[in-house]
Parts: sequence; structure tokens; C-alpha cells
Amino acid sequence: MSTAPAPFTADDYRNRMERAAQAAADAGLAGLLIAPGPDMDWLTGYRPPADTERLTLLVLAPGAHPELVVPALEAGDVEHAPGGPALTLRDWRDEQDPYDVTAPLMAPEGRYGISDNTWALHLLGLRGRLPGTSYAALSDVLPMLRAVKDAAELGRLAAAGAAADAAYAEITRVRFEGRAEREVAADLAALLRQFGHSQVDFTVVGSGPNGADPHHEAGERVIERGDTVVLDFGGLMHGYGSDISRTVHVGEPTAEEQRVHDVVREAQRSAVAAVRPGIACQDVDRVAREIITREGYGERFIHRTGHGIGVTTHEPPYMVEGERQRLVPGMCFSVEPGVYLPGRFGVRVEDIVTVTEDGARTFNDAPREMAIVH
Ligand code: ZN
Ligand code: ZN
Ligand code: ZN
Repeated sequence: MSTAPAPFTADDYRNRMERAAQAAADAGLAGLLIAPGPDMDWLTGYRPPADTERLTLLVLAPGAHPELVVPALEAGDVEHAPGGPALTLRDWRDEQDPYDVTAPLMAPEGRYGISDNTWALHLLGLRGRLPGTSYAALSDVLPMLRAVKDAAELGRLAAAGAAADAAYAEITRVRFEGRAEREVAADLAALLRQFGHSQVDFTVVGSGPNGADPHHEAGERVIERGDTVVLDFGGLMHGYGSDISRTVHVGEPTAEEQRVHDVVREAQRSAVAAVRPGIACQDVDRVAREIITREGYGERFIHRTGHGIGVTTHEPPYMVEGERQRLVPGMCFSVEPGVYLPGRFGVRVEDIVTVTEDGARTFNDAPREMAIVH
């Protein structure tokens, strides 16, 4: 098991906040309003004890010191956060109006990028106090804010990927036949924790016909001999995500099952091989889709090819038709084509990759062939 990486420092968070404020200025915004959640976590290292109706809001503006509006009873928690020293606290007490505390930090006619997950209550409160302000969803105006990872972030993602690989190696040794999907899913969750994850986000075990539903997690179905089983699992380790899919078979597969798996694997391999700086996200999707379509399964590849990963397990950039964003070294995302035959079985193979000057580097190296399990 890998040792814990050096924690991010107040300077690391200061740099991220400065870059975010500059990106806001470049996008023509007066600043950014950041609610508790992945954006605040990434910018400050602060996770409020609970995200409640009490307003906690990071206000970033170009050239200004980062300000955190925070309930007075939680101000002490901020001081313990790694980015706490980089923040000026504006604490407010229950008898005060938090929007009155926030308004002086904002430009009365300014346009702000605001976290997607900000409570409507808070957005309405701010707009009521400053009717001249306008707002845009952060994912619309700065979708790539967290997309390019630095060396320390890449190291964490690589470690999370290696832990997921180790969990996969172990799961191929457990019994599948005669056990419910949720029992295998519980094994997967325990393995992710055993190999260092602090949080398990999903453990898909889609056996037989359940594998044809990409959103099926794991249920009571008892796995049988002859089943194809989609495994897709991940979570957070040292604050960064893992996400891997492999498809296994209980006993020997049929020729058709093997053929579908071969097609998906070839699509996945080719899409990873296409990754390099400068190509558009949609081109990664097209490479995978063209192969699956050529082999006759185009209608059965029913989702995008990939999604970004970082402090969350699903974020921009998305490898999907229509996404013209160009790949940049340091971006990290999944490549996960699949084929889903309703009522029968599904196949998906997924790795996390990062863009380097020379092409893709994969964070998952677990064997991609269809493993035979028992
Ligand atoms: Zn079978
Ligand atoms: Zn996945
Ligand atoms: Zn994924």
C-alpha cells in the first residue's frame, strides 16, 4: 500500500485561488462564488461539517484577497483547514442576515460564476440584496477550472488507480457463482478500503441481463454459471478518484460473448491510443464509436465514451460528441466504451488516463481480457 502523499499547503490553495480569480477575469466575470462541495474543497481544502441552510460562501475576485463567508459557529473549523490561512473570514451570527454580510464583498453590477450546487435559497438571497448582479453556472463559464491536474494531483490519481487495480486482482479470486450481486459488491467496497480508499462511490456488479443496464448497481440477483458480469467501481483515496470497469465471465464464455468483449476492448484500446494534446474530446468518442459501429453494435453503445476525474469521480471534460474542447497535458478522464444487449448481457472496459505530450498514460493497468471467474 502506498504511503500518504504530502498534504497540500496553504500556498498550494493560494495559487489555485489566484488562478481561478484570473480565469474568472479572463472570462469577463467580476468574480466567483463558491459553495461547499468539490469546488470549495479543491480551492481551499475546507469541507464544512455540514452543508446546511446557513450560508458558507467563498468569494473570489481578481486582485482581491479570498473571502470566506462562514457561520460564526463554524469559523474555528476553517482555521484547521489546510487552505484556512489563505482566507479572510467574514463570520456571521444567526441573528445577522448572511446576504448583508456578503453583499459588500461583491460588485453591485457584477456578473459572477457560481458553483452549480449552490442552494437556490442563497442565490435568491444574493440577487435580492444586489439586483444589478447576474450569475452563470461555473460549469458553463469555467468548465475546465479543475481539469488540468498538477504533478501532486497526478500522483494521487495514479495511486488511486493502482489501488483499484489491486482490488480488481483480488475480486477475480472470489466466488461469483451462487452469490448475490450485492455480496460481490460488498467485497469490492471492502477491497477498495483495504487498498487505501477513504470513500467508496460506486460498486457496480451487473450480472447477466443486469449488465445490459449501465446504471444497474448491484442487487439481489444470484450470479449463475454462464453469466457475463460487468464490474465498475471506484471512490476517493487521498482526496482523488478512481474508476475502473472490467467485464468477467463465470466459466467459459460463448463465442458471441467473447466477440462482443473483443470489439469493446479494441474500441477502448484505439480510443486510448488516440489521446494526445490538441485533439478534441469528441474525437476520443468518435474513435471508440466508429469501431463499435463498424462491428454492428453502434446502436448498443448507449453512453458517452468518458468523463473527467479529480476530486470527484465525474466532472469535465466529457468525451462526447459535440465537445470541442481540445485535450491539454494534465487532463485526466475515463475511456469506457461499452455494448449493452437488452435482456442478455453487457460489456464495458474502462481505464483512467491522463494526457501527456506523448499521448495517454493510463492509471489502470489491470488485465483487460475477459477474466474467467468461478
Ligand atoms: Zn455466458
Ligand atoms: Zn466506471
Ligand atoms: Zn467512469
